[in-house]
Amino acid sequence: MGRDATPATGEPPLIITAQMVRTALICARQVWLERHGDPALRGELSLQARLLLEQGQQHEIAIQQTEAPLLEPLPVTSWEEGVRLTRDALSQGVTELWHGFLEHQAPLDLTDRLFIVRGQPDLLQRVPCFGTLAYRPVEIKRRRTPQETDWVQLDLYVWLLRQLQGTTPPGELWLGADEYGRPWQRLPHEYDEERLMEALAATIATLDAPSMPPATLGRHCDFCLWQEECFATRVQAGQVDVLPGVGPALRGALEAAHLSTIAAVAACPLEVLQRVRGVGPQRARQLQASARAWVEGRPIWHGPLPAGYRRDGWMFDLETCEVNGKTVPWCMGWCDSEGRTQIALLAPGQEPQTLILPDGQPVTLAPDVDSLWAALAEAVADTDGPLYHWSAYDRSILRSSAPPDLCEQLAPRFVDLLAVCRRVVSLPLPSLSLKAVAPYLGFPWPGHDDWFLAYQDYRAWLDWGDLDALTRACTYQRADVQALAWVWRWLVEEALVD
Ligand code: SF4
Repeated sequence: MGRDATPATGEPPLIITAQMVRTALICARQVWLERHGDPALRGELSLQARLLLEQGQQHEIAIQQTEAPLLEPLPVTSWEEGVRLTRDALSQGVTELWHGFLEHQAPLDLTDRLFIVRGQPDLLQRVPCFGTLAYRPVEIKRRRTPQETDWVQLDLYVWLLRQLQGTTPPGELWLGADEYGRPWQRLPHEYDEERLMEALAATIATLDAPSMPPATLGRHCDFCLWQEECFATRVQAGQVDVLPGVGPALRGALEAAHLSTIAAVAACPLEVLQRVRGVGPQRARQLQASARAWVEGRPIWHGPLPAGYRRDGWMFDLETCEVNGKTVPWCMGWCDSEGRTQIALLAPGQEPQTLILPDGQPVTLAPDVDSLWAALAEAVADTDGPLYHWSAYDRSILRSSAPPDLCEQLAPRFVDLLAVCRRVVSLPLPSLSLKAVAPYLGFPWPGHDDWFLAYQDYRAWLDWGDLDALTRACTYQRADVQALAWVWRWLVEEALVD
């Protein structure tokens, strides 16, 4: 994807928003795609991402209602009207303004181009400033730790306010909420013009870039509407960061060694791969096999499956939620290697009992987390076979939430099948999540594969006794353990012998 860098004569001024400046500091590609990408290729955010954004907005409203309860947002139908009403309100000397519209037009680079810079601080407050009264911006965030981009965002608001009122006001960053609904922390902001100008220059350079900047992958991608398009482009270009486990650091090291494509890594001799920064002998073998799997479109075995992992056992999985700041399981599922499944569910306030769901699945109701672990321990006590699970997460939850005696009893039997899989085989997949691996190996995944929807269904059962919703949640849990059994059987049947 590329574009002509020369702006057409008479082109309207480029609009730069505070959000754009923030995003450019995190992933330039996202900003570039917003300007030059085909809007039809924008995707949708996941339900979880949408909920988190919604929670952020609810937090802002809750803080505003505690700190400035009489404030109403400006009744506007367009940005331009918002700018006019904001200027009117500030010139009338209102004490506070919620979500005011700030805008200034100026040249920002060494050309004679004009840019329109826009920002909408959560709150504007009239405060004493250098012997006069001036408006300061307040930015409100739900999280409790500041990020560098918060300060740049406030820099931009301060700069916009300085254009309007001639003074440089102090800003504030309000983080989190205490038990009274007030900001948990109010951090003073120190205006840094150099930092802001650098961020603006980087944003302009991104918008002007003739071709798409490299991807900067991270958790922020969950909130990016271009996730699918970005991934498709990386696959098409054969970029190494499509391979599982290749993050920005390793990608940089591989690029520095002229190994920026999957094909180059696949063809690279092991002894050369091992010379790349951060790549040892085992990592080199995995990387090369992973790249070959992509190039050849098939699993590549790179180690035998030790006999211990061929041993029949239980397939185990759990789902977690936050209770009073602690992560605890709300559901556990386990099945034998043929997929016969048992489920135990956290049901606070209910008698321990077995519930038969409309689809015939029996579910053990446990009144607390200890009872949930006890149900598992009791069910698997007849044999001493392994409890296979996928990723280190299950074991960490066992250690942090199970009673010590049950933890001691169960922990030696926990076997991370993902780690085993990584040691012996590479698959042509960008992710080794069970939801990617099992369907690739032919597992027909029943129902949806979204843990968050399953949790919502569980909540619907807790809150309203919705049995159909609980059945869907348990279908999700059952699918997880049966998928694990499917993968384990495939490994046992197909893997190289030790
Ligand atoms: S998916 Fe991630 S890396 Fe790709 S454009 Fe979006 S934020 Fe950037």
